[in-house]
Formats: sequence, C-alpha cells, structure tokens
Amino acid sequence: MKVTDHIAQAKDTLISFEVLPPLKGKGIEALYKHLDPLMEFKPSFINVTYHRSEHVFKKRADGTFEKVVIRKRPGTESICAAIMNKYNVDTVPHLICGGFSINDTEDALINLRYLGIDNVLVLRGDAAKNETTFEPEPGGHKYASDLLKQVANLNAGIYLEDELKGTHKTEFCIGVAGYPEKHFEAPNMDADLQYLKAKVDAGADYIITQMFFDNAKFYAFVDACRAIGITVPIIPGLKPIYSKKQLTILPKTFHIDLPADLANEVLRCKTDEEVERIGQKWLLEQSKDLKKRGVPVLHYYTLGKPHVIANVVKEL
Ligand code: FAD
Repeated sequence: MKVTDHIAQAKDTLISFEVLPPLKGKGIEALYKHLDPLMEFKPSFINVTYHRSEHVFKKRADGTFEKVVIRKRPGTESICAAIMNKYNVDTVPHLICGGFSINDTEDALINLRYLGIDNVLVLRGDAAKNETTFEPEPGGHKYASDLLKQVANLNAGIYLEDELKGTHKTEFCIGVAGYPEKHFEAPNMDADLQYLKAKVDAGADYIITQMFFDNAKFYAFVDACRAIGITVPIIPGLKPIYSKKQLTILPKTFHIDLPADLANEVLRCKTDEEVERIGQKWLLEQSKDLKKRGVPVLHYYTLGKPHVIANVVKEL
C-alpha cells in the first residue's frame, strides 16, 4: 500500500521506522533482531536506506596501494522484499542518483515493481567518500528532481526505449527529502524551498524531513512550504541522542543544530547511559508535541538504538 494511502486512511498520527541494510557479512538476522522489538508498534511502513559503493585504497605487501571498490551495505531492494515478506508491512526503498545511470535506475524500478513494492523515496545522495562535491554517474541524474521525473515517467508508462508499445504503468508513491534547517549546499532557505517545490511539482507525493531536535524549526519549515504552495503531507524525521560524541557528529554529518538546552544537559552527563536517558526524554517530548499538532506520521531513524525508540513509542 502507498504511504499516501496509509495517511489518507489514518485516524491518528502514524508511526514509521527507518533501518539500514546490514553490514556485508552480517546476514539479515541482525536486521530482524533490530526490527523484532519495534514491530509491536505496527509501523505503517519501514524505510530502507541506500548505500553506494566507495573507493578505498588497500595497501599491498610491496607498500604500493591498490584502489578497490567496496559496498558496505548492499541489498536495499531485496531487504525491502524480505521485510515485507516476514512482517507483512509496507516498505520504502531509498533510491539515489549517485552511482546509477538512467538505465540502472530503470532496471531497479522494474525490479521493485516485480517485488510488489509500491513506494520509493527518491534522493540525490551525497558526494562519494573520495569526492568533495556530488558528481552524477555518466548518463545519470544530477538532482533528485531529475530522478523523480524518471519515476513519474515510468508511472505514466514511459520507458527509456520509446519504441516499447503497450507498456505497464508503474504506480509508485514517490517521497522526497526536505530540510527544516536547509540543505547544506543550498545558498539560502528560499532557494532550497523552491527546489523542494520543483520536486513536488514534478510529482512528489509527500516530503520526509531530515532529523531535527527543535520542533519550532519543523513548524516554521511546514509554514514556509505551505506559503509557497506545497500542499503534500510533510513527515517529520526523528532521531534520539544517545552519546556525547553525537554533539559534534550530528551537526558535522547532517548540518543541523542541537538546541542549547539539550546540548547543555548532555554535556553535564557523566556516562552515555545518562545521555541515553536525556535523549529518550527529549525525543518523547518532541514526539508528543508533534503528535498534538497533528503531524501525519512520526518517522524514526532507528539506527543502533531500537530500544530507545521502542520506549518512546510505548509512552506515546
Ligand atoms: P536534491 O533535492 O537534489 O538537492 C540537493 C541540493 O541541490 C540542495 O542543496 C538543493 O537545494 C539543490 N538543488 C536541487 N535542485 C536543484 C537545481 N535544479 N539546480 C540547482 N540546485 C538544485 N543519502 C543516501 O545516500 N542514501 C539514503 O538512503 C539517504 N536517505 C535519506 C533520507 C532522508 C529522509 C534524508 C533527508 C536524506 C537522506 N539521504 C540519503 C541524504 C541525501 O542523499 C543528501 O542529503 C543529499 O545531499 C541531498 O539529497 P536530496 O534528495 O535532498 O537532493
């Protein structure tokens, strides 16, 4: 079922989760162990992130280096199918521009349809680890809006080979990313919002946001979206703080601010167990407030700490 159908049929705020494919070599059981305690909350859908290949340099015995391609977390599409099969829940694979030619993208979308997947979250992806700026694959897409147009085309039965006749129209429900604190490459918030509107105008069905720790920023973002005519559902993305290291890692990686109240409380903690308690309390307050304001879905990034998310959702 489509994310937008879940939202349309809901009587209350829904719950959804986001997981990463297991690290190569770990097996899918590690992911099931992560998800098992979360399934009692009946998530409407589960997102599975996409991780592109990286180039790394391996030292040879003679001291020279060899450039090798590694993929740490393969299998997004098949993991979505496996989760659907095991838990009977809808899944949302993330699909990125990086590393994909338009032909690779079309093949991936065809496979997703064969697997019975109704949703995709279309993203550009970040720069590859060895590059400073995002470079599209030769013959690939530069922006999420370009990838989105390809998905919308397939929904209209338009494939890359235009001589195909009587084509099957896919029916993907398409999500896109939004940034309450601005995407770090955008020159300003207004420009970022206009590009977000372009994604919606090109066919995005809903927006899911980058994590934030200050709900006021999310509400201001929603107001700004509505003011420029974006009417699709906007789903807040939420993550708990559970270690002191995150005070620097989260702003550096995700280009977000941590409110002074939260950062100061975390700084006063003596152990990471204390930080986890503070983080859980903060996430619960954020979630309660968002629910009270009637957000369609609370979307939790569950990486590493499913029990914290479980404790929060239980309290809701
Ligand atoms: P875009 O919408 O293409 O925007 C990228 C930048 O370009 C922005 O600054 C935007 O303002 C600007 N821009 C857009 N269109 C134009 C245009 N036409 N001309 C000029 N500038 C333009 N990454 C992964 O690799 N795998 C994942 O699974 C993944 N999941 C994510 C899930 C969520 C909910 C979020 C919020 C992010 C996720 N990311 C993931 C990270 C994402 O790929 C990065 O944030 C990436 O840098 C931007 O992706 P985007 O889809 O927002 O890009």
